[in-house]
Amino acid sequence: MKKIKIGISSCLLGEKVRYDGGHKLDRYITETLGMYFEWVPVCPEVEYGLPVPREEMHLVGDPETPRLVTVHTGVDHTIGMLKWAEKKIKELAYENLCGFIFKSKSPSSGIGGVKVYTPTGIPGSKGVGIFGGTFIRHFPLIPVTDDVRLQDPILREDFIEMVFVYKRWKKLVERKGLKNILFSEHLLCL
Ligand code: SF4
Repeated sequence: MKKIKIGISSCLLGEKVRYDGGHKLDRYITETLGMYFEWVPVCPEVEYGLPVPREEMHLVGDPETPRLVTVHTGVDHTIGMLKWAEKKIKELAYENLCGFIFKSKSPSSGIGGVKVYTPTGIPGSKGVGIFGGTFIRHFPLIPVTDDVRLQDPILREDFIEMVFVYKRWKKLVERKGLKNILFSEHLLCL
């Protein structure tokens, strides 16, 4: 069986791209899901141009439109990261992804439950990371999850099932000669 292409936060594959120079290797993802999925790794912070190691960042301000700011020196990377994310989304539109597994709680990669701090540094509401949020907005039909949700047997089964359903739906659309519709849907999302 041909493996299904899935986007993934690079650190979950064991790549040492985190702010502290470490990784977040998840063996269930690499060893079990890796039998069926082909990975398309993405590390927003490194691909955007930040070094490893680097200063930690967090989300600050309005949870609907948070800013991505370094924790100690207060450097604001919001605009740069949003621009990079828009560019990356256009590249990913050609990757034929059938799902994405994000790193939880990350201010760049998280897709929910990411702490958003007040300007005085107090954790307030929860939000989504800059790249994670951009991905979801542009590809509302692509199934997404994160490493924490994958630990829940029901949510894990839901995600895997949605990936296979999405893949079958895409195949059907292509077979029926509606590929342009599928593609233009992607472009409409851009
Ligand atoms: S959580 Fe995202 S930005 Fe942070 S190291 Fe992992 S892939 Fe890179």
